[in-house]
Order: sequence, then structure tokens, then C-alpha cells
Amino acid sequence: MTTTQPDVAPNEQAQSFLSRDVHHLLIDGQRFAAASGETLTTTNPSTGEVLARFAAGGASDVDRAVLAARKAFNGPWSTWTPYERQALLTRIAQVLDEKFEELIQIEAMDMGAPLSRLRNTKPALMKMLSFFTSQATSISGETLMNGIPGNVTTMTLKAPVGVIGGIIPWNGPLNSQFWIIGAVLASGCTAVLKPASEASLSVLRVAEILLEAGTPAGVINVVTGSGSSAGHALAAHPDVDRIAFTGSTETGRRIIEASTVNIKKLQLELGGKSADIICSDADLDKAVPGAAMGVFANSGQICFAGTRVLVQRPIVEEFTRRLLEFMETLRVGNSLDDNATMGPVISENQLDSVLSYIDIGRNEGAELLMGGQRLGGDFENGYFMQPSVFGGVTNKMRIAREEIFGPVLSIMPFDDVDEAIAIANDSEYGLGGAVWSENLSTALRVVHGVHTGTMWVNCYGYIDPLVGFSGTKLSGYGSKGTTAHMDNYLYTKSVYVQL
Ligand code: NAP
Ligand code: MG
Repeated sequence: MTTTQPDVAPNEQAQSFLSRDVHHLLIDGQRFAAASGETLTTTNPSTGEVLARFAAGGASDVDRAVLAARKAFNGPWSTWTPYERQALLTRIAQVLDEKFEELIQIEAMDMGAPLSRLRNTKPALMKMLSFFTSQATSISGETLMNGIPGNVTTMTLKAPVGVIGGIIPWNGPLNSQFWIIGAVLASGCTAVLKPASEASLSVLRVAEILLEAGTPAGVINVVTGSGSSAGHALAAHPDVDRIAFTGSTETGRRIIEASTVNIKKLQLELGGKSADIICSDADLDKAVPGAAMGVFANSGQICFAGTRVLVQRPIVEEFTRRLLEFMETLRVGNSLDDNATMGPVISENQLDSVLSYIDIGRNEGAELLMGGQRLGGDFENGYFMQPSVFGGVTNKMRIAREEIFGPVLSIMPFDDVDEAIAIANDSEYGLGGAVWSENLSTALRVVHGVHTGTMWVNCYGYIDPLVGFSGTKLSGYGSKGTTAHMDNYLYTKSVYVQL
């Protein structure tokens, strides 16, 4: 690992957005202070400095936003044809393409992902928009046979469910918000978004861009504020039809409880502790960087990070040596530094929590092979941590069972593929996972054996909306991508027509 901390500053457009005194709520196309007048601050994790102040929305702000979303749902938006919604999504993609550099600078400063990483996410964002643009004109029901006497024609229609509450985590909001926005606009729903307090800014800026691109006022509203206040109010709101939530399993449980008020439909994408299985016949030229970046990308703050790296015993030594060599190529630095490949973690709290797992791992008897420290010197005010590797980890240890959500990789030896599958499955979570093997039947045995929502073979972390991504067990339910995603934003109406 090398480090770099030069003087860096955002571009003019990002600076102009960031220099606002307070970032207001965006409801019905207008900016409002929180009803309470209160504000919160967000920090730049690379410097530890306050980056911006934003409205601390609460229950009455959520009421106002839900009312606006309901009015928009019932208003002229409901008469837009699929072609019109498709054209809107096309315009949005164009404007996002033009403003992408501004958006990633805001995102980099708010949540700490390096620009090099964020630039690489552009094709994924554009693919997502392209997917939802196509979905706008692909919604269909069925004509069905029936056994009713007489001349009766029967069919199903698909209709938008209504007002969506979108609750977004901080680990990549610029892109992840579009799983909600894209489906809302393609289906004809409306939404109130509640971004994470630690990274609200790219969601607020995108909402403005959506208006500029021609999205009607009230279709996408944003209420910033704390999870326990604004987030809870949204999850418990009787006039919100559905919640799309991505975040921790613990918060997912609270949302389920709050949703009982009106039996809301839920899409819950939760935590993970994914197993990345390296068989002794794997091509290590690919498996080593693949497994490393399956953890260290985004400083380990990815729900499907493959943090349990299961390595077949004959190659443990070689894999470990090559992994540690590969890690020398990681460049930790300020998120605005073009040369950085790994940024800070999101907050001081998160850093403390990740560092506490270093102590937990050591006390449990795992061997810390690299890293484990907060960065000092030029980095001491930011929330930087050395990428870290534990060896000799067993699946009973807390570092193998709990989601650390930071740059910590655990190497866990296994003897045969059945044992690897058993270890992979011995987890509360079931989100991602991978297998590296040059033998396709071995790889497919693992694919079939591991109880998880998504599996990669000889690669890690591809997500394509055409293929989808989902979780099982405590990782939640409700797929992202494919028509299954759109089905979460639609309900089915059965229709009987007596002719
Ligand atoms: P989090 O603490 O659960 O927060 C997620 C969102 O929920 C934030 O907007 C948060 O607001 C809000 N929230 C908190 N308490 C709430 C409540 N009682 N009612 C309603 N909303 C509430 O998760 P995080 O720390 O931001 O994100 C990390 C977690 O997300 C990890 O567990 C990760 O695995 C998971 N994740 C999963 C996926 C996936 O696709 N499965 C993707 C990314 C992340 P505040 O920020 O104001 O607290
Ligand atoms: Mg921030």
C-alpha cells in the first residue's frame, strides 16, 4: 500500500453546489427548510472537515412530501404514456452524462470513494438508465383462458403501486438511488427519497437535475434527516404504498415493524458476509486481484464484499504471498486525488467500529498479516485505514460471522469443495459469493451448493440490471434488476369482461 495526500479541490460546478449555506429538502419541485428549522452536517471523510449543512427533516416534512407525491401520482403524471416516460428517462440519461463529473466530485467529497472508482461506475449508471428506459415500454399483463360460462374475456393488467418510500444507504448513493428512481419513472409511480445522513448530497443534486430534465414536480421528492426521525416516519407513513430499502439488516427489521401500519410492500436489500472460494486449480493471476478488489473496492463498504476468502489448503501460502504483493499496488488517498485507488471509510464511528474488529480478530486468535492501523501523518484528520488481512481465520470467529463493512479480508483455509460449500453456507447472510476454478464442473458444483442470492464464477462484483442481483436469508428479499424489479413497483389487476 502507498499513500498520497496532495492539495486537491473540487471543480467549479461541484464547488458552487457545495457552497450553499444549507441544502434544503426538495418537495413538489421546491426547496424548503425543515419544519423544525433544524439542520445536520455532513463531513468530508478524507479531511474530517464539515462539508455541508442540510435540513434535518422530520415527520411533518415527510407528511408534506408524501402529500406532494400522492398529488403527483394522481395528477397529470398518471396520464403520461409509456413513450413519454421513456423519453423522460432518455433525457435524464443525457443530462446525467453531461453532469457526471460534477456529481462524482460531490459524491467523492461526501462519502469518500475515490474519483478513479467513481469514474469507472459511469457505464454501470448508464446501463441502469438504459434498462429502465426499456422497461417503461415493456410493462405487460396477460390474456387468460377461463372456465366461466358465456362469453367472458379475462386478462391481467399491471398498474403502478403508488407512492414509494426510498431509503438509501451511504455507501454509493449516486448510483444506487437509480434502482429506485429508474423504476419509479418507468412504472409511473412517485417517490419520497430519504438519503443516508452521511451522504445525502448526490441525492439532493440528482433530484434537481431530474427537475431540469423535465420530471414533473412532486414525482421525485427528497427528505433528508436522520433515520430514526425522517426514515422512520417514511417507513410508518400510512399513505406510502411501498418501501424500497437498502441498508443494514438491523434497520431492515425496524422497517418491517413500521410497515405493518398499512401492510406496505417491501423490497429489502440488507447486509452480507459473502464467501469468495479459491480452489487450488484457480488462475491466481485473476483470482488474487479479483478476490482483493472484492473486498477493498470502496474501502470494503460494499454489501456483497467477498470478505470471507476461502482458500484451498495446498495454495494458501502462495495465494497469501501474492495477495500481500498485490496489496502493495493499492494507493490510499484523498477521494479527489486522481491517483488514489482506495479512499477513507465513511466516518469516525465507522472507522472505530472497523478497528475494533482488528482487536476482536487478534483476540480470537487470527493472525493479522497486514494493516490494522489508522493512517496518521497527512491523513490523521481523515478516516483512513490500512487495508488489512487476517490469516488463519475460522468460521466460528466473529470476524468471519459479522459484517465489518471496512477494508478487512479474512483468509480461511479449506480442504475440499464440500467443506468450502459448508463454510460458505454457515452464515446468517446470503447476498453474494464467488468461486475461482479452471474446472467448470467444480465451479458449478459450488454455484449450486452455496445458498446465496448472487454467485460469480472467475470474477467478482459484476452487476447488470438485465441479469439482476438479489439476496436471501438475512440479506433480505426483493431483487434488483430484471422484470422482477419492475414487478415490485407494479400490482396486478385481474379483469373479467362479460361481452
Ligand atoms: P443503515 O444504517 O441501515 O442505514 C440505511 C438507511 O436507513 C439510511 O438512510 C438511514 O438513515 C436509514 N435508517 C436508519 N434507521 C432507520 C429507521 N429506524 N427507519 C427508517 N430508516 C432508517 O445502513 P448504512 O450503515 O447506511 O449502510 C450500510 C449497510 O447497508 C450495510 O449493512 C450494507 O451491507 C447494507 N447495504 C446493502 C446493500 C444491498 O444491496 N443488499 C447495498 C448497500 C448497502 P441515517 O443515515 O440517517 O441513519
Ligand atoms: Mg459525508
